[in-house]
Formats: sequence, C-alpha cells, structure tokens
Amino acid sequence: MERLTNISTVRELLSRHGFTFSKALGQNFLINPSVCPRMAEAAVTDDNTGVLEIGPGIGVLTNELLKRAKKVVAVELDGRLLPVLDETLGEYDNLRVIHADVMELDLRRVIEEEFPGMRVVVCANLPYYITSPVIMKLLEERLPIDTITVMVQKEAALRLCAGEGSRDSSAITAAVRYYASPELLFHVSAGSFMPAPKVDSAVIQLTLREPEYKPLDEKTLFCVIKAAFAQRRKTVLNSISSSMSLDKSELSGILKSAGVEPTARAEQLTLRDFVRISDAIDKGGNDG
Ligand code: SAM
Repeated sequence: MERLTNISTVRELLSRHGFTFSKALGQNFLINPSVCPRMAEAAVTDDNTGVLEIGPGIGVLTNELLKRAKKVVAVELDGRLLPVLDETLGEYDNLRVIHADVMELDLRRVIEEEFPGMRVVVCANLPYYITSPVIMKLLEERLPIDTITVMVQKEAALRLCAGEGSRDSSAITAAVRYYASPELLFHVSAGSFMPAPKVDSAVIQLTLREPEYKPLDEKTLFCVIKAAFAQRRKTVLNSISSSMSLDKSELSGILKSAGVEPTARAEQLTLRDFVRISDAIDKGGNDG
C-alpha cells in the first residue's frame, strides 16, 4: 500500500483497526515522505541485502526497504499492529513479520535462518526508550551485520557519533567506537512524526568492523569506560577509583603507566587510552 505518509490515509487506517498510540512503546510513526526512501537507500546498497527491521509500526519504512532489498524481517512487539501490517504490506512475498520483543529475540538464529547467503543490515526507526540497549545488543552479540542505519533522538545521535575527545562523548560513544565507525547521516525534525515527539531526531549509520585496539579482557575495558564516565565532571582518577573500588595511589600509578594523566576527564580520553588503562589494570599496574 502506497501513501503511508499521507496523514488522512494513516488516520483512517488506524481508526479502522481501533489503534491508539502507545507512548510506552515509543510509537511515533514517520509521516515525512522523504525520510524513509533516504534511510532505505543508505541501508540497502545491493539487491542481495537482507534487512532486519526493529519496530515496523504500520510499515512505512518497511515498504521502502521491501522495494530495494532481497528480504525484510521485521520484529514488532505490539500485536495490534500485525493485522495493520497484513493490510499495508500483504502484497510482498519477501517480508516476514516476527511478533516479539527484540531484546528477547535470538537474533543470531533469526539471521542464520532468514538470510542465508545474504549481506545483512539493520534499519529502523528505533523506539527511543531502548535506543542504547538495542544498539549495544546488536554490537555486543557480534552478529554478522554490515551496517546499522537507525533513527534516534538528536541528542543520542550526537552522543553516538561524537568524535574522540569531544564534549558530547560518553560511555556509549566509546563502546560504539570499539565495534563500529559511526556517521551522522541527516537530521529529521519532530514534525516528521505522528504524533510529533518533543525533540528532533537524526539518522545515523554504524559500519561494523573489527576493533582497532583490542584489550586483554573486554570486560575490564567496558568496566573502565563505564567507571570513567560515571562521574564525568570528576578526574578519571577519582571517577574510576570510586566506581571500581580501586586504591587511589595504586590507580594513579596504573594511569601513569598507561600514559594517561590522572587529572584528565573521561571525555578527553581516546579509546586507545581506555584500552591501555584496562590492560594496565589487568596486568596489575606493572607494565610501563
Ligand atoms: N517504523 C515505524 C515508523 O517509522 O513509522 C514505527 C517506528 S516507532 C518509533 C517504534 C516501533 O517499535 C513501534 O511500532 C513499536 O510498537 C515498536 N517497538 C517498541 N518496542 C519494541 C520492542 N521491544 N521490540 C520490537 N518492537 C518494538
């Protein structure tokens, strides 16, 4: 079904299905006709692409993905939308809708079963209440995915795509940079959605790759990153020592051996610095 961005068509469709928006599920549907084609074009770069979409809603982005991809698997938590999707996208035979919570789903299995031999990408207008958990799940599970092209809140986009050492950087910036190269593709105004959210949005693309710097132990690395940003206004010495319950004078030595000034702030550190600190902690602060 075309014209899923036409407000009266969407209103009529939703009222016929007795659908009301759930704020808790982050339901803001795209009604700006230029956004979904741009997202789909950025995500689907060849006709052997399989797309995993999270939260298809009434299928406005799904429709654009289906026109370009070999196959689309769309995971939707709200069962009330399944009959709507049946009506809007029933004509396509390269679509599978899975009624599930994306956070609970075995995505590796879904990818293996649904996309054999295909290049796999993720494309979604994410439900904003789970932006970071979804992105971290996709990255940490090391799924065989090429890119993640997603709409997120503008502030989240700035954080996720912040340059190293920039004021917008946070623990998730460093974590994302470990697994992927982030890029902010374009901004989207709040008025592009129905209902309009309070904040603007942006589409970002993460291109997955092998980590540039590997730590001895990833668990320590992510612990250090979280600890350093836990009290971001404090020095890394104070923040890491209190969050990881490490002795200050010992940690001071560890930071120096890693080439990091104890008085630095977390946002000033590069991923390479965090890897060095993590390795120095794992070696007991003995490397120099
Ligand atoms: N893709 C549609 C669009 O762009 O108009 C809808 C996007 S809306 C921001 C987010 C969608 O994610 C909603 O359809 C919502 O029901 C669904 N959703 C929310 N939580 C989810 C979860 N945990 N797993 C799967 N889908 C979820």
